[in-house]
Amino acid sequence: MPILADIRLLVTPASEERQGVMRTISDAAVAWADGRVVWVGPRARLPSTHDDGKWHSAGGGLVVPGLIDCHTHLAFAGWRAAEFVERVLGRSYLEIAAEGGGIQRTVATTRAATFEQLVAGCLEHLRGIAALGVTSVECKSGYGLDFGHELRLLRVYRALTSRQPLRIVATLLAAHTIPDEYRGNREAYVSLVADRLVPAAASEGLARYCDVFVEETAFTPEEARTILASAARHGLGAKLHADQLTDGGGAALAVAMHAASADHLEHVSDDGIARLAASSTVAVSLPLASLYLRQPPMPARALLRAGVPVAVATDFNPGTAPSYHLPLAMMLACTLQRMTPAEALWGATAGAAGALGFGSELGRLEPGLAADFAVVDAADVDHWLYHFRANACTQTWVAGVRVH
Ligand SMILES: [Zn+2]
Repeated sequence: MPILADIRLLVTPASEERQGVMRTISDAAVAWADGRVVWVGPRARLPSTHDDGKWHSAGGGLVVPGLIDCHTHLAFAGWRAAEFVERVLGRSYLEIAAEGGGIQRTVATTRAATFEQLVAGCLEHLRGIAALGVTSVECKSGYGLDFGHELRLLRVYRALTSRQPLRIVATLLAAHTIPDEYRGNREAYVSLVADRLVPAAASEGLARYCDVFVEETAFTPEEARTILASAARHGLGAKLHADQLTDGGGAALAVAMHAASADHLEHVSDDGIARLAASSTVAVSLPLASLYLRQPPMPARALLRAGVPVAVATDFNPGTAPSYHLPLAMMLACTLQRMTPAEALWGATAGAAGALGFGSELGRLEPGLAADFAVVDAADVDHWLYHFRANACTQTWVAGVRVH
């Protein structure tokens, strides 16, 4: 079976539960078959029965599980650099959104793009993402905001699964903001999402999750309950954009709706942290968004102290986090949120797998799990995230196949 060796150090989360607790193996080897890890350990102890001469070299690098970006808005058309400059000059995200900028601007350009243009944009991003050592990407809709365009974005994600090698997990985020056409009639849009879009996405198998943006410019907790209750009835898991710009009780709502993850949480309250700690909901930190919006970062240490698992993701989108660089987000999780490099790596592997409901299949290197891994030109994880470079990843493998 294929074997990867010449591994200076292999670092993998030791378990699904304990954040930052890693298993490290010097001079390691990994063997796999049919896309799954069969054996991992010190090369000197590789069973001879696994060795049939198909050796690959990690070039003396660091090997970690393939990174998982558990929060992106991958499919969109058009960038918003002008808003970036406006925010630099002091205007707020909420002010820009109130004047038709923000999400609404991207909705207009995305609706105007063809299906193939959207696919091509995603493929270009995914090539860049794969080169960074990322092997799985969660992708949200949310720039269609009507029945046809939201389903079209989910079909773009379905098309990607057969047109490039990374694993794609699709999420319906029709409840991203109230579209202009429904400004005077919010109830009708909530009903469109809950009663028509959720059932349609579920019956076509187009999404695994349903997400709602709970914020003063978006949806109320009560509207989110209506949408997520429909999602649960139709077999879609729940996610929430929660407590990003204000404390809107999003963490408590995520727990009440049994959400797989509560994402952002920059303004999470002590009560929200306590409720998350008593639940199975994963907190997803998005430090690139905090940085671009000049917001206080998620209080990751308080969450970790309370026992809440904290994943790390990019929030890649054309407005508030226009970078898909997950190792950069991991470095920012260290510098802005005071997570250790081991905690940040755990958050972008085992923690992110948990946020997607794949904790028993992805995010760790051990027998039976996916043979997804990245080779990094660094002596260890601390040095990788400390001596930050444009790209330290030299190889990316998905299901035992080299894709970068
Ligand atoms: Zn987001």
